[in-house]
Amino acid sequence: MASWDRRSPQRLAAQRDAAVRKQVVDAVAPFSPFWRDRLTALGRTPASVATPTGLACLPAVGERDVCPDGDPAGAAGLVLQAGASGFALPAAGPSLRRPGARRLAAPGSYRAVVEADTRPTSYVFAGRALRFPVASTRSDLDLVARAGARLWQVLGLSRADVVVSALPCEPTALVQALSLAALAAGSPLLAPGGGRAAHALVLVDATALVVPADAAAQTVQDLDDRGAPMGSVTTVLVAGAPSDDERAALVEVLGGAGLSATVLAVHVPDGHRLAWGECRASAGASGLHTYPDLELVDVVDPETGQQTAAADGEVVLTQLGMLGTALLRWRTGDVAEAVTDAVCPACSRTVPRVVGLRRGALVPELALRGGAVPVDLRAVASVLSGRSDVADWRVVLGRSGRDGADELLVHLAPPAGADASAAAVAVARDLRLAVGLLPTQVVVAEVGTLPIGSGLTRRILD
Ligand SMILES: [Zn+2]
Repeated sequence: MASWDRRSPQRLAAQRDAAVRKQVVDAVAPFSPFWRDRLTALGRTPASVATPTGLACLPAVGERDVCPDGDPAGAAGLVLQAGASGFALPAAGPSLRRPGARRLAAPGSYRAVVEADTRPTSYVFAGRALRFPVASTRSDLDLVARAGARLWQVLGLSRADVVVSALPCEPTALVQALSLAALAAGSPLLAPGGGRAAHALVLVDATALVVPADAAAQTVQDLDDRGAPMGSVTTVLVAGAPSDDERAALVEVLGGAGLSATVLAVHVPDGHRLAWGECRASAGASGLHTYPDLELVDVVDPETGQQTAAADGEVVLTQLGMLGTALLRWRTGDVAEAVTDAVCPACSRTVPRVVGLRRGALVPELALRGGAVPVDLRAVASVLSGRSDVADWRVVLGRSGRDGADELLVHLAPPAGADASAAAVAVARDLRLAVGLLPTQVVVAEVGTLPIGSGLTRRILD
């Protein structure tokens, strides 16, 4: 059989269909409290959504759906939970095939083996507008590690590479994924935490350096200013999918430091645990490579959460094989131009690629006059959509010419004959309830005079 990244579309589809059926019917539908309730509420049977097409009909969900009142405890509903009768939660791995005979002869020891593989024991923290734990079982960590070994292939790294990470020591999925990837690939990885990377660079001849996307250029500049030896670095991994500006600034600083390393992005979408990477052959030009047998990746209309054919959409994913926190149709808050199945023009891999990703674009952190806050634009859109007192609307993210503060402007067009100021007051009140803040300004306009422009979506402009 062709290796994981060279399979034919037919082979990938067959594999994906089987994995979706197994994950939905055997794992998520019976054992996820959140999805059990949601499927019941939607009147759907597990079997009816256990295909890629069936899944695509499910409205996507995000942190706000799982934790509607902002309490992170709601995220526990995504964790697969086997009750007393459900201890035979299906898990992958050799340890679960072995006890076949013991299952009947010694149910107690069978239960112990199953629990060791299906009990969540490790947690990372995710979330954009709130922080919630993401649970992993031992088999989940194994899956993250195996995907990590593949990530190394995509990045063009091998066990001969020595990696130094300048990421802050935080319990994020990205930090965990890199650590398990190095473990699985057999590469030494030193991650002393943020500013201490300079010490690690003195200790080893690093060939790969990991820097955070939001401070990539600054991090390399600081290391260079401190005289940290980086002459052996041939790869700079940018953790968190850099913007074009962040990437350009990094390349400039690398040039200034006399380094000609290949810059490649590594990204874990929020809530997910597998790290996607850009292939070395493309030098970062062909998008993030995904794992078709371990996840389904899609884009949806950011305003409605429905399937879309539009150019830009919110990245939504379904995990295949995860048994702790298990995500179906998960809204990541990232926006991408497209998810393409076309063969990568640079490396010829056949895996789907996410192109033009803008991390967290739907939950930007705005430096409003009241302070810096993440603003969930999906929540803003859902307050404004489908109201009888609003005929049309736009949300504009702007910057004040007066003091440089970010602004969240809501433009409303009330229906003909409606009380415009009452609508403005009602919208402001509902936004405060749902999003936790008041817009900088509510502007009442007439239909046809609302702002237009290129933005995240048709109605959310930046
Ligand atoms: Zn490629």
